[in-house]
Amino acid sequence: MGSIVLDNVSKTFGDAVVIPAIDLDIADGEFVVFVGPSGCGKSTLLRLIAGLEDVSGGRILIDGEDMTETPPARRRLAMVFQSYALYPHMSVRGNIAFPLKMAGLASDVVERKVADAARILNLTDYLDRKPRQLSGGQRQRVAIGRAIVRDPVAFLFDEPLSNLDAALRVAMRLEISELHQQLKRTMIYVTHDQVEAMTMADKIVVLNAGRVEQVGSPLELYRNPKNLFVAGFIGSPR
Ligand code: ADP
Ligand code: MG
Repeated sequence: MGSIVLDNVSKTFGDAVVIPAIDLDIADGEFVVFVGPSGCGKSTLLRLIAGLEDVSGGRILIDGEDMTETPPARRRLAMVFQSYALYPHMSVRGNIAFPLKMAGLASDVVERKVADAARILNLTDYLDRKPRQLSGGQRQRVAIGRAIVRDPVAFLFDEPLSNLDAALRVAMRLEISELHQQLKRTMIYVTHDQVEAMTMADKIVVLNAGRVEQVGSPLELYRNPKNLFVAGFIGSPR
């Protein structure tokens, strides 16, 4: 559950070729980091996987099934954004429960799933607060909680920590890594931060202008960067 394959996936916006053609294999349960400079196509790639954008060419397989034409809600993926996208007028409980209520689940089931997610994320004492009464880290946890309750086969994070201050970023980095250990679900994590990539990833995908420069474990990329771009980005000494 949770394997994702990109088969010759491309994306153009008008005349602009943002992703010429990408092949990628993500195994079930893997923590994969997409890293690369601003504008290289990280968010676009994530949105293609989520189904929030249509591909211009190629196929996207999830658990071996062609999902290229499948709408986002039926891909069983959950996206977490840097902007949190919380509903300001709803409590933490309401925000986390929202996708379940939309799916028409019975209220006792909703209650139990919200309680489970809150426990995992240390939000139990904050369920009745509004988003504005929370810290940045707590808001980010609520956004993750809303993803967890949907029981997705994979989580897609788009620079989830970029709005947080440095100390909180370190703490949340650890929390997301722990969440991965605990849930053992596939996670794709987009960042332009080398440190996040090096410390969190099982596998790093280095992107440059919509192309994959190199794929490998943090250690592999550090020891054997294929070119200067990768070396520069990963911070290798060569
Ligand atoms: P990143 O997330 O790596 O910073 P993006 O995926 O957001 O990069 O953007 C990659 C490129 O695609 C950029 O040049 C951006 O301007 C362009 N782009 C992204 N979305 C659109 C869109 N909806 N219409 C036109 N161009 C877009
Ligand atoms: Mg982006």
